[in-house]
Amino acid sequence: MMKHLTPYQIDQLTDELDAALSKLERSMRVTDDALRPVHLDQSAVGRLSRIDSLQNQGLTRNLRDREQAKLGQIVSALERMEKGRYGICIECGGDIPFERLLVFPETPSCAACAL
Ligand SMILES: [Zn+2]
Repeated sequence: MMKHLTPYQIDQLTDELDAALSKLERSMRVTDDALRPVHLDQSAVGRLSRIDSLQNQGLTRNLRDREQAKLGQIVSALERMEKGRYGICIECGGDIPFERLLVFPETPSCAACAL
């Protein structure tokens, strides 16, 4: 049960997860704004600008999908933390090294399984 992580390392990784969560929440607020329906004034906006807005919304939706996926990963990581299973690969059950967790605190798997 997270034997390979010291309590200090676990504290540090909890802080990293909290920070990642706040950062994501901020960026998701921006994406929310960008995803609000664009009011296309047919007379004022030419066809090219309309295509532009629609393309931007498409990109924003892709970004939103990635943000949702990351949010899911962070939330599950916090759950694993609570259950004492954090830092243990969900694929092979092996220990995920502290160095990897520091870079990807939300990762559910070791480097070998993530490939
Ligand atoms: Zn693994």
